[in-house]
Amino acid sequence: MSVIDETVFEAAESAVRSYSRSFPALFSTAKGDCLSTADGRYYIDFLAGAGSLNYGHNPDSIKRALIDYLGGDGLVHGLDLATSAKADFLDAFREHILRPRGLGYKVQFTSPSGTNAVEAALKLARLATGRSTVIAFSGGFHGVSTGSLAATASGYFRQGLHQTLPFVTHIPYPQTPLGDFDSLDLLRRLLEDPSSGVDKPAAVLLETVQGEGGVYAAPIPFLKQLRALCDRHRILLIVDDIQAGCGRTGTFFSFEPAGIEPDMVTLAKSIGGYGLPMAVLLMKPELDVWQPGQHNGTFRGNQLAFVAAATAIRHYWSDDAFAAKVRKKGELVADFLQRRVTGPLGIPVRGRGLMWGIDLSDVPGVTAGKVSRLCFEKGLVIESCGRGSEVLKLLPPLTISQVNLSLGLDTVAASLSELAGDGTIQS
Ligand code: PLP
Repeated sequence: MSVIDETVFEAAESAVRSYSRSFPALFSTAKGDCLSTADGRYYIDFLAGAGSLNYGHNPDSIKRALIDYLGGDGLVHGLDLATSAKADFLDAFREHILRPRGLGYKVQFTSPSGTNAVEAALKLARLATGRSTVIAFSGGFHGVSTGSLAATASGYFRQGLHQTLPFVTHIPYPQTPLGDFDSLDLLRRLLEDPSSGVDKPAAVLLETVQGEGGVYAAPIPFLKQLRALCDRHRILLIVDDIQAGCGRTGTFFSFEPAGIEPDMVTLAKSIGGYGLPMAVLLMKPELDVWQPGQHNGTFRGNQLAFVAAATAIRHYWSDDAFAAKVRKKGELVADFLQRRVTGPLGIPVRGRGLMWGIDLSDVPGVTAGKVSRLCFEKGLVIESCGRGSEVLKLLPPLTISQVNLSLGLDTVAASLSELAGDGTIQS
């Protein structure tokens, strides 16, 4: 490769770029839970492609399957043609993910970003019910194309666009920066009072754990009661599992512990197995009212993603062993944060599985952005989230080694300690 001129990004790339601003380095290779730069620096990865790399960077088993597939001149681009790679993915997904969980969803391949799976879900909910409004939650993030952005609550992403984002009513999530809220009671009042001013919606859309909103997890009883309320009013329940799904919270689907079956589920990010672009909408069969090609897109058939996804599913999801390891690691993280962050410093932490947030709202002079920058100097990639980037988000690959998980956590604790300046936390 020719010598790289790093000024090219500032000169040629749009101002919209963001992660490259938070993590200013020229990355070139990556393996497992580590990234490395062109000038030979290594970073532990607690960002994992914003949740797209649950199985880490370049996992060997999946890489081998991809190389074999490319070596055999397998179709790479396939529109929505019937292909052997897609058939194999559907077979693996049904056998190892849907059937063991008693789920009969049909699978729609959308354009490969999460936002397009959400677009499809919103359109289908409206088509299937003949209603137009959707209830979503404050703090929710569902993508930034116009339809999904209408459901995304963040003022940052909506700025300047409010007038273009109709037909979504936001209500507070059960956990919020302002304290807990009885969202069910509010929803019940809106639905059961004929003069509430809120039309009966087509669907309720939610993340079971709000990732971008600040790592707020909906209580399991809330999810059960929400399902029952939606049933009672014949309103569709859509779970956006784009960030919290694919094992992130310790089960393949984040809603499994609630024992509920959403009417639709969106998956993207880690479903592609290797960080390859792929997104799907899962729907109960009776909701599949699409006309052929009514929701389309040229890149719905990324065959490499199908190969990677099928391999990942067979490799990690043939039994519960991998998920059990994720849950174990999640317990280690919870224990560490309790002992080293909440206990000594009184800083709240929240999360499930391997998705955790450290809430720095009330720590004077310490922002998540500052902690993230210091962590980066110390060799850890970790991002912030929340309404005003006040939450440090821990999102390591699910395959992270115990050693690098501990090293990363120590780096977080040391950085917090240094910035809080009280020396309470020692690395
Ligand atoms: N939904 C959730 C819950 C997400 O976390 C994201 C992305 O972070 C999206 C939707 C949008 O996905 P994408 O960025 O692939 O469009």
